[in-house]
Amino acid sequence: MYSHVAEQLDEVRRSLPGGVDLVAVSKFHPVEALRAAYDAGQRRFGESRVQELLAKLPAMPDDVEWHFIGHLQTNKVRSLIGKTALIESVDTERLLDLIDKESERAGVVTRVLLQLHVAQEETKFGFSVDELMEYFTKRKFESLKATHICGLMGMASNTDDEARIAADFAAIARCFNNIRNDATLMLRGFDTLSMGMSDDRDIAIACGSNMVRVGTAIFGAREY
Ligand SMILES: *Cc1c(COP(=O)(O)O)cnc(C)c1O
Repeated sequence: MYSHVAEQLDEVRRSLPGGVDLVAVSKFHPVEALRAAYDAGQRRFGESRVQELLAKLPAMPDDVEWHFIGHLQTNKVRSLIGKTALIESVDTERLLDLIDKESERAGVVTRVLLQLHVAQEETKFGFSVDELMEYFTKRKFESLKATHICGLMGMASNTDDEARIAADFAAIARCFNNIRNDATLMLRGFDTLSMGMSDDRDIAIACGSNMVRVGTAIFGAREY
């Protein structure tokens, strides 16, 4: 039933240049589909809902790296801490501070990406470019005790207009490079730029992405 997964995973993998990490976005797909990808060698999985991630986690082998990629409600933070390899979707300073507080309390270090909002849709989450630059120039990250900011995550506008998509990804990449190349910030391990999904990953990679989050192209369409 899930034999197509290994094949499609292989196709996606072969399409990626070296140095680009693949997150298999398994949200809304059953554990059997994840298992098929796992058996084909995939270890990095992305989920967008806390309950779903927590339900799948015990059903999968221990060496799975779970990436949380959805909007994280503050009341769910505590249950997620210690379970993820990377929380990619930190979209406010308040959430970041809460993740830090809960990580310290749990005695773990949580690796995160900050989500940047550049797309046209008002509905998408994330820091604005100005908010993000202010966060770094005011050195607010220095107050974090148990959280490691590993880079940025972003999405392009939901459109067929490839020029628009490329402009969005370029804006995210510019922000990433400005932060990373600012020697005065003295950041360590700020090196992950997560951009690109099934349909726009080639454009994202051309704009400098080194992590793509691919669901549909591996697992097929989701049934919500
Ligand atoms: C669902 C989702 C994806 C995967 O999208 P596909 O089009 O199925 O590849 C990637 N990133 C985020 C943040 C998502 O929510």
